[in-house]
Amino acid sequence: MRPTRIVLALGGNALLRKGSPASAEEQLKIIYQTVQYIAEISRRGNELAIVHGNGPQVGNIVLAGEIAGETVPVMPLDVCGAMSQGYIGYHIQQALGYALIQKNRRVPVVTIVTQVIVDENDPAFDNPSKPIGLFYSKQEADEISKATGYKMVEDAGRGWRKVVASPMPKRIVEFSCLKELWDTTIVITAGGGGIPVVEEEDGTLRGIAAVIDKDLAASRLANDIEADVLMILTEVDKVALNYNKPNQQDIDHMTVQEAEKYMEEGHFAPGSMLPKIQAAVMYVKDNPGKKAIITSLFKSIEALENKTGTVIYS
Ligand code: ADP
Ligand code: MG
Repeated sequence: MRPTRIVLALGGNALLRKGSPASAEEQLKIIYQTVQYIAEISRRGNELAIVHGNGPQVGNIVLAGEIAGETVPVMPLDVCGAMSQGYIGYHIQQALGYALIQKNRRVPVVTIVTQVIVDENDPAFDNPSKPIGLFYSKQEADEISKATGYKMVEDAGRGWRKVVASPMPKRIVEFSCLKELWDTTIVITAGGGGIPVVEEEDGTLRGIAAVIDKDLAASRLANDIEADVLMILTEVDKVALNYNKPNQQDIDHMTVQEAEKYMEEGHFAPGSMLPKIQAAVMYVKDNPGKKAIITSLFKSIEALENKTGTVIYS
């Protein structure tokens, strides 16, 4: 029997805990706990690719650059994204490598700095929605906008910030390499949704200030690599209807049609659960017979045994 091929999308709580400092030491400590689950999933004979979030990490890299801007050159957002992929991947490689050895599972772990092609005509660019970096005064914001072309918006009375678009992932540039590695190696890829790049007419790639949703990137990857399962690991054990209301109702499984109906009814918050449902629906729609699972990291093993989690199928 061929092993089950799983794309794992790790949410923010797999890397950092709310309220704890986003220091390197703290992150490594949390990741040492996270990889216990991933190593066990691997030990059971599954093939894995790991996609992770990078919101707080890339936010802090951007901030550090802005604050130190008088002393060192400010790095553009695509470069900050690459940096975050590097150090998060490094921590997962180190911790997961150790956890696998302890389980006597001889599988190498490697991080791929991953570029993801987006369309410069994606409607998301007409309506940038993701605030990043420092808060500025109106006058500073105007100067930054003039100098860099960033769109600036007023963020909830706290000042002006850069906003970037969140376009759809179209193609993973390093895909053929991932495909080669997948049978023998656990690959950490498309971290933070991947580094957004646009393809010029002559085929060259150019980094662009944008943020790709990591769950949508994981969905793209699972489709392209022909995974059997897309598994999105977050803070909740199950997706719910009427979330956080007295009549909350957890969902065990839903079809694409049901998921689409619930999306229309507004059950899933934009920016958190909605992109996960969109990612799951995209994957199972294009891959009839396959399933997407949304659950918590801590329930990941039980969810693979069909004991918990929310399953989305076509
Ligand atoms: P991640 O870092 O894993 O992407 P997010 O905070 O972006 O985490 O998304 C997960 C969160 O979505 C949950 O912790 C929950 O608070 C929220 N959420 C919004 N709508 C729902 C819903 N209908 N069912 C369950 N969780 C929901
Ligand atoms: Mg999220």
